[in-house]
Amino acid sequence: MTLLGIDLGGTKIEGAIIDPQAPDRARYRLRVPTEGSRGYEHVIGQVEKVVTRLEAESGVLRPPVIGVGSPGTIDPSSGILKNSNTLCLNGRPMREDLSRRLGVEVRMANDANCFALAEATLGAARGHRVMVGLILGTGVGGGVVVDGSVLEGIHGIAGEWGHNPLRGERTPCYCGRRGCIETVFAGPALERFYRERTGEGLRLPEIAQRAEAGEAAARATLARLRSKFGEAIAAVINILDPDSIVIGGGVGNLGLLYTAETRAAVLRYVFNGELRTQFLRPALGDSAGVFGAAMLTAGSSGAVKRAGSPRARRTRSN
Ligand SMILES: [Zn+2]
Repeated sequence: MTLLGIDLGGTKIEGAIIDPQAPDRARYRLRVPTEGSRGYEHVIGQVEKVVTRLEAESGVLRPPVIGVGSPGTIDPSSGILKNSNTLCLNGRPMREDLSRRLGVEVRMANDANCFALAEATLGAARGHRVMVGLILGTGVGGGVVVDGSVLEGIHGIAGEWGHNPLRGERTPCYCGRRGCIETVFAGPALERFYRERTGEGLRLPEIAQRAEAGEAAARATLARLRSKFGEAIAAVINILDPDSIVIGGGVGNLGLLYTAETRAAVLRYVFNGELRTQFLRPALGDSAGVFGAAMLTAGSSGAVKRAGSPRARRTRSN
């Protein structure tokens, strides 16, 4: 028995076969270009190409369940994808179409949920009962894993904290609201904050270097990240009380997020006198997407926590 995961990205589709007995290393792994400009059917065909090539390379037939991770939101009841940056996939019943084409059951989750599941089961948060995986980069997303299962939610948005409002913030967001977390401390938001003070367009790693050298505007930018992150993540901690929070994405690379000062900024808003939740760097790097997709299929009862049984799901989506 093997696990097969597909990471369906905007530029490439990656597939991996994983041995559940030794799941921290892919036995076979390959990628093909997504070529989303050639349309939906073409992308479905590219996924099929990954699966058939993996079969040919490994000599192992595809398992009865395949996991697929993709940016965007997958409606849990219909399997329809929305908000994907590969535009031709939006509004399509992708889970069913893939299932029909591949002749197997397909489980889908968004890329943040796959990241969280991989880090919770194979990576930095291994063994933790409740974990939150954050994507903190050009956008802000996240996923929640409880006892090894992704918490999906009735809308498929569990863990999506990036569009919660922050107090006192008014910057318009592409989602139509104002003051969303994403407009305050996603990478581009921090770079904009620095540019407005200095007139200089620098990337975040350079701003962090300047902060270390003591430059005032750079230090103010990172201080803003620390205090706003503290406020934003404390809300998540007050609701889920996780063992750990794994921070992926470009902003997650900043050492500042793992310091005692940042913990103090979080604790300021936590409904408790101490903070034991660990903030961890991801352990799996780029592999988290495809590993998380494969782990969607681990376990006989299914790794994705849902409101209904698989049978109820099929009935609803007919
Ligand atoms: Zn927003």
